[in-house]
Amino acid sequence: MIAKLASIKIDTISAPFLKEKEIELLVARLDLIHPVVSGNKLFKLHYFIEAAKSTNKATIVTLGGAYSNHLAATAFHCRSVGLKSIGLVRGESPAKKSHTLLICEEYGMQLIFLDRKEYPLINEDRITKLLNIIPSEFVFIPEGGYDPLGAKGASMIMTELNDLNATHVCTATGTATTLAGIISSASDNTKIIAVPVLKGMTDLEERISFLLNNKPYNKPLILNEYHFGGYAKKTDALIQFMNDFYKDYRIPTDFVYTGKMMFAITEKIKTDYFPERSRILCLHTGGLQGNDSLPENTLVF
Ligand SMILES: *Cc1c(COP(=O)(O)O)cnc(C)c1O
Repeated sequence: MIAKLASIKIDTISAPFLKEKEIELLVARLDLIHPVVSGNKLFKLHYFIEAAKSTNKATIVTLGGAYSNHLAATAFHCRSVGLKSIGLVRGESPAKKSHTLLICEEYGMQLIFLDRKEYPLINEDRITKLLNIIPSEFVFIPEGGYDPLGAKGASMIMTELNDLNATHVCTATGTATTLAGIISSASDNTKIIAVPVLKGMTDLEERISFLLNNKPYNKPLILNEYHFGGYAKKTDALIQFMNDFYKDYRIPTDFVYTGKMMFAITEKIKTDYFPERSRILCLHTGGLQGNDSLPENTLVF
């Protein structure tokens, strides 16, 4: 994975609306890191995996929903380094497993379904009892890697991207772990922009403080009005945008994260939110496997 860090492809979008305003729009294609488990997730996992290896723990335990990109990435990463992975899945065992859960199993993850009462209570202590496993045998990764260690891993995303001298770096935001990592490692003269994909995310500052161990940080700009109804919710306008974006620039996006982020940034450019001569770098954090949950023919790609 580290070898891949040195080669994030950058696409430059060329369009009349950008030329007119002398704005440069770049997309960092983290989605190309792996066809299924792409993007920011492998970065967030990095130090948890290192921790397991350095302490000789054989198992990673984590949790997520039935469509979780985080579960799929954990399953893949664990298999590639020879660790056992256990995924605790929110909700009863379904009659038909989601595409994501099938991928997890393909990568050797053991899935355990937890009802919606038990799921939010999960911690290392409960895992110990539930799985009959002792703490010295496993590393626990919170949902979405939401932990300072996850943010530290995500900070590596910026390592080489800082050389692009962007005025703004934009990312879709779920747990805010990626956001915190980028904030901690971006150059001081780069403004970070978060596009939350959940409705009413009002606790971003607390989250970032926790993720950065209460260190002071440069506050991001937060575009809170692009959740399209909430997490994994979508509208026809969003789907239309994603299809047009693909037709115009040949970049596929996902409807949970990167479609919303690109919609937000494009609209903000068109409504003059960004000063002229801005150089905007959008992180394509991947997540394309999630589009498989859409009805056939929804997307043109
Ligand atoms: C998980 C995910 C995010 C959000 O990352 P957080 O660190 O949880 O904020 C963004 N984009 C994609 C494609 C993701 O899968």
